Amino acid sequence: MPALLWFRNDLRLADNPALRAALKHGAVVPVYLYAPHEEHPWEPGGATRWWLHHSLTALDTELRAVGSRLIVRAVPRGETSLSALEALHSEICKLCETESTAVFWNRRYEPAGIRHDTETKGVLRSRGITVESFNGSLLLEAGSVSNQQGSPFQVFTPFWKACLAKADAIPALLPRPREVPGPKSWPKSAQISELGLLPRIKWDAGLADKWTPGEAGAHERFKQFLHEPINTYKSARDIPSVDGTSMLSPHLHFGEIGPRQIWHALQELNQERPPVHAKAKKELDKSDAGHFLREVGWRDFAYHLLFHFPDTPEQPLRDKYRDFPWRQGPSAARDLMAWKRGRTGYPIVDAGMRQLWHTGWMHNRVRMIVGSFLVKHLLLPWQDGAAWFWDTLVDADLANNTLGWQWVAGCGADAAPYFRIFNPVLQGQKFDAAGEYVRKWVPELTTMPDEYIHAPWDAPQEVLHRARIQLGRDYPEPIIDHKEGREGALAALAKLKE
Ligand code: FAD
Repeated sequence: MPALLWFRNDLRLADNPALRAALKHGAVVPVYLYAPHEEHPWEPGGATRWWLHHSLTALDTELRAVGSRLIVRAVPRGETSLSALEALHSEICKLCETESTAVFWNRRYEPAGIRHDTETKGVLRSRGITVESFNGSLLLEAGSVSNQQGSPFQVFTPFWKACLAKADAIPALLPRPREVPGPKSWPKSAQISELGLLPRIKWDAGLADKWTPGEAGAHERFKQFLHEPINTYKSARDIPSVDGTSMLSPHLHFGEIGPRQIWHALQELNQERPPVHAKAKKELDKSDAGHFLREVGWRDFAYHLLFHFPDTPEQPLRDKYRDFPWRQGPSAARDLMAWKRGRTGYPIVDAGMRQLWHTGWMHNRVRMIVGSFLVKHLLLPWQDGAAWFWDTLVDADLANNTLGWQWVAGCGADAAPYFRIFNPVLQGQKFDAAGEYVRKWVPELTTMPDEYIHAPWDAPQEVLHRARIQLGRDYPEPIIDHKEGREGALAALAKLKE
């Protein structure tokens, strides 16, 4: 019986449980259905659409190298993936002169994805079609880890401990198939370019310079990270001017590499030590590799939270934050625009926002700084920040983005308390002491001496003159005074408590 393999955010051949199951059925028809309307209100943003175009192209190349190909279809608005799958099912049955096919996919965990997949599974099965789904994107199945009372964890450390205690349940790696046999005749496919994923106005040069979407690109990136940066991960991961982190986030989001592949690679790296999930787990925990694995664990935690609290992309997890007195009106809109464009007058914030616009990625430390600045200094809703990240990040991921923004706004699980307000100047001085990161992304400040790079408004006139910088002309004056921003944030919190 031919098998239909429905690719989603699992765009890889190695360690792909749905592909493995499909192969057991004989001929495999790999399919990608583009139905952004089904993800409403979280339809893919501009940067992830760019990534998807290139990742699908790479997947098609990988499939062709093993004797297969990717069938691509755009699902028109008003129609569903279910109807597209049913149509494909009939076409394949005709082409292969068979009564039925089986359908395989790796599970999604976004609320809309769960809703559509549950319905699709029910309808297809009711028509006698075999459907099987798998966990291809998390270390442990979402919903499978809970506390002693059987409730979902809301704090990371006990969650991660519980994951490590269950680490035996992480399956062994599935090999990459040497061959993926196809049907005698193939159903028709659209061209990937017909999906219209690439921007019409060319703003994507910075993305193309930085990234290689696809499974091969993911493994190359991981190889580079294992070669050097992993050895200093703990200390370098907070320094935005250094490539001290893996930059695997977009590859993980699209499933070009899975967290289990990372898990097993790190076990191998620590081969000389006993396995992580036995008594030696503490040892790995303390190492740079263990710290990195913990961050990958945060990703599982984010999915765990999204699975149990599906309203959180829009609503704070902590109810009391629902009525937070956010600013509104024209001045709020103006400040939001200055933040998006990297023109707040705070160099570390502006550097982060420009890195984001240029490369589709921002360093984690700086994500925290720009996020805190938006929700605390500017008193603008975290949902506005999440929406901008959604459109501009190549790694925009509903689970991770929601966790990140609720953490920043103090309204989520294991979040930074709202009253802890990052001082963007001190953060800059601490994590970008020589101003390398700022100089790279805010070239107007290149000539500013280190002493004033994070607070140019403090520089005496002659220093500004020598640096040929006039604030308000060459670089913006701060859109809000730090002290004023801090006091405003604390006053808003106090109002909430009343
Ligand atoms: P590394 O440090 O190399 O970590 C390895 C992997 O672990 C990452 O690729 C990621 O999958 C996971 N990870 C690391 N940190 C976190 C974290 N705090 N939460 C969840 N998973 C984590 N990450 C996204 O993938 N997509 C997003 O949309 C996203 N939005 C964020 C928004 C805000 C406001 C904040 C503060 C953080 C956000 N993050 C998001 C988390 C984090 O910033 C990125 O995962 C990380 O910077 C990616 O770089 P890396 O791959 O080099 O990370």
